[in-house]
Amino acid sequence: MEITTDQLPEWICPSCGSRTRDHPAISRTDNKTKVCSRCGVLEAFKNYVEATARQEDQPVNGIKSE
Ligand SMILES: [Zn+2]
Repeated sequence: MEITTDQLPEWICPSCGSRTRDHPAISRTDNKTKVCSRCGVLEAFKNYVEATARQEDQPVNGIKSE
């Protein structure tokens, strides 16, 4: 028995509160909460930005913006 996207019941993303039929993504926050694909992408993007920001916090020898 195949399940297509059209047959998924509508559900509400606990993260953004919007109704969706997206295939759920697992939230990176606790690794078990199902969020909509948009929130999944946003979380991944946020993680990436935060990781990049942390790297930029490190002082770089010889390069200093004043
Ligand atoms: Zn969402």
